[in-house]
Amino acid sequence: MHPVKPIIAFAQLNVPSELQSSFAGFKEPTPIQACTWPPALEGRDVVGIAETGSGKTLAFGIPALSRLIESNFKSSSKSGKSTISILVLAPTRELAIQTHDTLAALGKPFGIASVAVFGGVPKDPQVKMLKNASMAKDGMTTRIIVGTPGRILDLMQEGVCDLSGVDYLVLDEADRMLDKGFENDIRNIISSTKPAAERQTMMFSATWPEAVRRLASTFQTNPVRVTVGSDDL
Ligand code: ADP
Ligand code: MG
Repeated sequence: MHPVKPIIAFAQLNVPSELQSSFAGFKEPTPIQACTWPPALEGRDVVGIAETGSGKTLAFGIPALSRLIESNFKSSSKSGKSTISILVLAPTRELAIQTHDTLAALGKPFGIASVAVFGGVPKDPQVKMLKNASMAKDGMTTRIIVGTPGRILDLMQEGVCDLSGVDYLVLDEADRMLDKGFENDIRNIISSTKPAAERQTMMFSATWPEAVRRLASTFQTNPVRVTVGSDDL
């Protein structure tokens, strides 16, 4: 057992002050944030079971940015190779865009940019965007990709989406991604990221069925499990 001491006030959160501005107008962390932040900021893998609207984006987004900023992210962006280090997989275009917007706002004060890629729209603009992503522009470097698994795999196979530097991986709404038949795509994508020992893997789901457990046990290392709401899962 690894008892988690929740972070029940934003002031207890030890992250750069620029990240704190994302809480403007919020009174206190939501339960999934309070319980995810302590292990996530220690670098642990977390599997979070919580329903929609519970505040999961900041639950994984704050530790993601914090880790990247601490890693002295600027040094690695000169090679011209992929600089992507945070990857978020989401089940739908809408969720991918929402999450991208939140992470882009978190990263902006640090010169960290995000791109969103998803299906149902032409590929070419996304191909161009990813080709440009390896070059720093306006003081911003693209370090985050948020997208749906099918399109990401497609872009990887086109050779424009290099995930070999990804060391913070989020499977968001994992149960919905599996319902949509993305399991094989997800497995293929994850195998292109850094190996588990060098990667922090976060997984969020509203439910906890066998297929989600299997995915967690394949890709996570000794994860801390946080359940908010019903424990009848
Ligand atoms: P989920 O991913 O669990 O469905 P989101 O991360 O999208 O939830 O958050 C749902 C809404 O709650 C968003 O509008 C977000 O800005 C807001 N929110 C996030 N954290 C807090 C908080 N600590 N207090 C109040 N509202 C919050
Ligand atoms: Mg969400």
